[in-house]
Amino acid sequence: MPEQTTHSEMTSPEITLACPTCKKTVVWNADFPFRPFCSDRCRLIDLGEWASENHRIAGDNLDINSEDELQR
Ligand SMILES: [Zn+2]
Repeated sequence: MPEQTTHSEMTSPEITLACPTCKKTVVWNADFPFRPFCSDRCRLIDLGEWASENHRIAGDNLDINSEDELQR
């Protein structure tokens, strides 16, 4: 009687996808901690983090205005 033991469970196919920002191939494993993005830079770009610095400046101005209103 032949052994039916298989180790094929270890050979699951790799999941790959394209980076939403630069379309580079990203493998869904520990090599790409920023998946689905290929890198932290692409992740920040897609999240609009690069633009949020402008928002942060505007936010500071808003905070100053609201403090000004509180003092009145
Ligand atoms: Zn990318």
